[in-house]
Amino acid sequence: MNMLELERPGLVTERRGPAERPRRLRATPGLRALIRETELNARDFIYPLFVRHGNGRSEIRSMPGIAQLSVEEAVRETAKAAALGVPAVILFGIPAEKDPVGLENFAPDGIVQQAIRAIKKELPEMIVVTDVCLCEYTDHGHCGILNMGTAGPESRPNKSLPEGYVLNDETLEVLTKVAISHAEAGADIVAPSGMMDGMVGAIRLGLDETGFSNLPILSYSVKYASSFYGPFREAAQGAPKFGDRKSHQMDPANAREALREAALDLEEGADMLMVKPALAYLDVIHLVKEAYPQIPLAAYNVSGEYAMVKAAASNGWIDEVKITLETLTAIKRAGADMILTYHAADAAKWL
Ligand SMILES: [Zn+2]
Repeated sequence: MNMLELERPGLVTERRGPAERPRRLRATPGLRALIRETELNARDFIYPLFVRHGNGRSEIRSMPGIAQLSVEEAVRETAKAAALGVPAVILFGIPAEKDPVGLENFAPDGIVQQAIRAIKKELPEMIVVTDVCLCEYTDHGHCGILNMGTAGPESRPNKSLPEGYVLNDETLEVLTKVAISHAEAGADIVAPSGMMDGMVGAIRLGLDETGFSNLPILSYSVKYASSFYGPFREAAQGAPKFGDRKSHQMDPANAREALREAALDLEEGADMLMVKPALAYLDVIHLVKEAYPQIPLAAYNVSGEYAMVKAAASNGWIDEVKITLETLTAIKRAGADMILTYHAADAAKWL
């Protein structure tokens, strides 16, 4: 039999064009939705709030739409986010007065402690996370106790360390007090952000000893000395009066070091890890998630990222809604299970 007779008319025997056509699955919105790998959800968001004494709101110039809030306003803002499906807020406090140690940070009637109680009273289901650091509370604006003597440079507590160096172990004692005080006020999660060595272990021990062994720790494990925090410093009034944070926060040039920080925090008892900032560090988010797929990972879409979107959008150069959702999707795709973002309430609305 002649082979040619078996051929149906019109059957292509010689290929013209590719066999693999990924575009087949992009042809309609339905197909695209069917094969979508990453789905953003309001449940992924943690909404940062700045609380201060007094009444009303004070808009933050460099972060349009974000304000310093009174306790009452913080409850209102939390309720708004909750109604949109956002499950958690993280609180940052601006104290009435600052001092070298930051005494209001662990005062039972401190601003964050008041806000925790007020939010939990009105919205008991809402998860209240608290930032645990010293920088918003200290008069020098640093994240810890400084190596400073009251009687000149020679009277500094540690002679082997330079004047003004952030003292690690002395700071751990304060961080532990702060975490316990947030727990006593009713916080659901404490989130130490100071990048002190041993901070998670110290806080874990302190919480366990005071009856809070079930309170989770979300550690800012991998926090970079980043310029993307600029607008936050206006928002939280926590800019260092001199120097910078390079002696404790990570060098933006390093990625592998992130694994060391994450490993130490997990050994010390961290329940969840965080990478901060997010957008310029998607590779780091991916790296940490690959190394610890079993550990919930947060990423902080920081103030500078927010401000850049707002500034460009207000000039009509970008589409705020699309850029924001694309950015948040990218952060999740990189490996973040949850995202701290100033866009939380808006993004929840836009989804
Ligand atoms: Zn700090």
